[in-house]
Formats: sequence, C-alpha cells, structure tokens
Amino acid sequence: MNILVTGGAGFIGSALCRHLVAVGENVLNVDKLTYAGNLASLWSIENCSNYRFVNADICNEAALIELMRREEIDRVIHLAAETHVDRSIDGPAQFIETNIVGTFRLLQATLKYWRELPDRKARQFRFHHVSTDEVFGDLPFDDSTFNEQTPYAPSSPYSASKAASDHLVRAWHQTFGLPIVMSNCSNNYGPYHFPEKLIPLVILNALDEKPLPIYGAGTNVRDWLFVEDHARALALIASKGAIGESYNIGGGCERTNLAVVQAICDILDRMKPRNHSRSYRDLITFVDDRPGHDRRYAMNTAKIESHLGWKPQESFETGLAQTIAWYLDNEWWWKPIREGTYGGSRLGRLAAG
Ligand code: NAD
Repeated sequence: MNILVTGGAGFIGSALCRHLVAVGENVLNVDKLTYAGNLASLWSIENCSNYRFVNADICNEAALIELMRREEIDRVIHLAAETHVDRSIDGPAQFIETNIVGTFRLLQATLKYWRELPDRKARQFRFHHVSTDEVFGDLPFDDSTFNEQTPYAPSSPYSASKAASDHLVRAWHQTFGLPIVMSNCSNNYGPYHFPEKLIPLVILNALDEKPLPIYGAGTNVRDWLFVEDHARALALIASKGAIGESYNIGGGCERTNLAVVQAICDILDRMKPRNHSRSYRDLITFVDDRPGHDRRYAMNTAKIESHLGWKPQESFETGLAQTIAWYLDNEWWWKPIREGTYGGSRLGRLAAG
C-alpha cells in the first residue's frame, strides 16, 4: 500500500511511520516541520527504500493533490495538527488554521483525487482521521467512560478545533461519500515526545534539578497509552476499520497527574539517584491551574477490542520505565530542543516563577 501520513515528523506520526515502514508499507510523510516536527525522530528509517519525506503544508490543496497523483496514494492517515493545549490558550489562531482549515483543504484534495481513481482503487481507498479523547469534554470522578456515541463537549481551543475537524471528516463521508475512518485516542507517552508535554518536561526538569510543575492540586486524571500501542492501533484501523466508523483507543490506565509525576520521580530515583539520597519528589511544585482544565478523561475501548482485536501491549509501569530510559540515553535528540528557541512551555514558565 502507498500510504500518505500527514504530521509524520511529530511524536505519534513518527512512531506510526517507523511502524508502517517496519511492516513493509510504502510511506510518504508529508509534514510542514513546525516547531513540533523533527526529522531526527525518523533517523532509523530515513534511508529505507519504502520511506519518503516531503515538506508541505496540509493547507496547500494543489500541492496535496499533486502528491497523491504522483505517488498513487491508496490511503491517507491524517495526524498533522497543532496539539498543545497550553499553546491553544495563549494563541488559538494557528489551531483554527491548521486543525480546521488544514483538515478542510486536505479533505478537498483527497475528495478530488479519490473521484479520479478507477473503481477498484476507489473502493479500497481510505482516509483515516486521527483525533483525541479531549473532544468529549470532562468526566466526573466516577467510573463513567467515553464511548463512540458520547456527545462532543470540547473545553479548550485545541479540543474545539479537533472536534470541528472530526465533524468535517464525518460530513465529507455523509455528504460526498468519501471513505473515511476515524479514531479518538487518550494521552500518549513514549520516546521522541516533545519536551513541552507533561511526561518529558518532568523527566528533563528532574535531570536539570528544576521544579517539576503540576497544575492545581494534581488531581486531574488522564488515561495513558504507550505511543507504539497507538501506532499499531492506527495501522489496524486504517486497513481493517469499517468505512464511516470511529474507534476509541485508550490505555485503560487512569492516573492523576500527581501520580504520574511521582511515578517518574520514583523510577528516576532508582535509575539516576540524586545527591545526598534526596528524592526527585522534593522538586514537585504546584502551580496555578490551567483555565478550563478538564477533570478526567477515560476511554471505553470495547469496540476496537471486539471488532479489530486490538489491545495495548505495554503497561504504564513498563512503558514509563522504557520512556525514562530512552530520555536518559538520547540526550542528542532532546538537548538541542531544550536549548533552542521554542521559548519553553507555559507549565515550565509557571513553575520557574
Ligand atoms: P505533534 O505536535 O507532536 O506533531 C504534529 C505534527 O504535525 C508536527 O510534525 C508538525 O510539524 C505537523 N504539522 C503541523 N501543522 C502542519 C501543517 N499545516 N501541515 C503539515 N504538517 C503540519 O502531535 P502528536 O502529539 O504527534 O499528535 C498527532 C495527532 O494525534 C494530532 O492530530 C493530535 O490531535 C492527535 N492526538 C494526540 C494525542 C497525544 O497524546 N499526543 C492523543 C490523541 C490524539
């Protein structure tokens, strides 16, 4: 299969490209290389004959059609997006442009290309839109979960822009017949995660003996999934998912933010002890809560498990230890980003005072 992956230089997109190349698919990675895109995350596949990178913007409809025609694309897996909630609070415009307008342009390009395909190829074609559990909004602290029928109720500019893109994709299927599948996934973690997100930020601040910032009282709950489990789920849905359907993906692994940060500290205490046998937990710093901060997300994954036979393989404990070991071993990847000009994260700045 010739698969066009948008956003393949990002955290999840690069894991997906590595997975697809390893299982023998032909991958065309289309990425604009924003601050979050990093070709260094693809070093292990950059010389593979079944992998190619093109620097392009999903808002450029003409360039996208041209690429799809030239590469005879059989499938599109769409991950390109602005993804950081804090940035969407500080400056929502780019989220509207990329996540909503960009998805619209990509849909238009795909629809035109799909309509040109001969019947047999058109029947096999799929457009897979990758989205988030955050579109469903806020859950109480009980045992309720999001399923595929949960009404949308996004709280942040990021989740609202992703919700809008989900609606566009569904409409292009219902109105124009474009063969789409969709997935909504919980919080990912793992290697090559940009250091403004909670888990890598805490690991790297701990190594630098800097404060470990936690919003509010740290009671917000997220459902964590190892990124390689997500990549396997995406490959499966793109090939076997039923047209017009959406699938929830999650780790079945709810943790408060405080528990996540404490778990990182405890693993680091074993792997790289601090001086004078102090724990990294001493660096934990509570900062003013994020506005509109959803209390809890949790996914019901019964549909993907029963229809497609997917289950996460990594537990949070083993996945987190693997992730921390990766950051300890791969300073070459994160150091230039930490020392670069991206300006640090809002959470990091709050902790620094
Ligand atoms: P990321 O921020 O790490 O990567 C996004 C990538 O998109 C970057 O490589 C960036 O350069 C590229 N990009 C941005 N604008 C572009 C444009 N206009 N044209 C082409 N490329 C562009 O994001 P991620 O965490 O890997 O998330 C990927 C997708 O998965 C997103 O759609 C996100 O909403 C979704 N998602 C993420 C999570 C998570 O926990 N990270 C969970 C569920 C769903």
